[in-house]
Amino acid sequence: MRRLIVGNWKMNGLRGAEKEITRLGELLTPDDRKRADVVVCPPATLLGCLVEEAAAAGIELGGQNCHIRPSGAHTGEVSAEMLADAGAKWCIVGHSERRQDHGERSALVRAKAEAALRAGLTPIICVGEKPEDHEAGRAEAVVGSQIEVAMPNIGISGGRFVTAYEPIWAVGTGVVPRPSHIEAIHARIRKTVGPDTPILYGGSVKGKNAGGILSIPNVDGALIGGASLKAEDFHEIISARWTDHG
Ligand code: PEP
Repeated sequence: MRRLIVGNWKMNGLRGAEKEITRLGELLTPDDRKRADVVVCPPATLLGCLVEEAAAAGIELGGQNCHIRPSGAHTGEVSAEMLADAGAKWCIVGHSERRQDHGERSALVRAKAEAALRAGLTPIICVGEKPEDHEAGRAEAVVGSQIEVAMPNIGISGGRFVTAYEPIWAVGTGVVPRPSHIEAIHARIRKTVGPDTPILYGGSVKGKNAGGILSIPNVDGALIGGASLKAEDFHEIISARWTDHG
């Protein structure tokens, strides 16, 4: 089965970043393209600059966040319609850095996911437990309730969505959970989202560990922060060899 590999550039990148996209396009082999769909989510300011290079490289673009309204008096915000207008096809919602820095909760994340669907974008809904929940053995319960609340009503809005399990203690830390932990949490998410919704894993994925992580049952792809900034590092992940779990 094809994997979905998504890069989240966070608040990194200035004009000139086009060359990373072009380089990634050069590195991707026909076999890579057969095995994986590749998405890059740059800062919103770069979307328009990267559209041509991304199309030439066969890579899709996404936003990192969106407002729940299409337009209006919301200074500093960017709507899903604006992201789509700038060339995005995807939008990350509920990233742990948004939850931590901006107090976003799962009900708002759901509204953002529905806003993304309204604009024709595929939302990538992030969930993940805090270190204290992990230590207390509450990861499954916490993530289960996050996804139950954040999941959009696709019966109303149409379209599909993707989820990403990102334990907060693994994001940007170099620490990766045991495979059995990832497997258990992905199985819990699967119970809620059903068989057709891709579930990505995110948190310190690198070229060296990507093959193992992508071979875990119910891991349909990966969301990558730091290692997506340089085309070579990102390509190492995309080209990792995984064992299909059917
Ligand atoms: C992320 O920010 O979504 C992420 C997974 O970061 P990193 O790969 O750097 O841990």
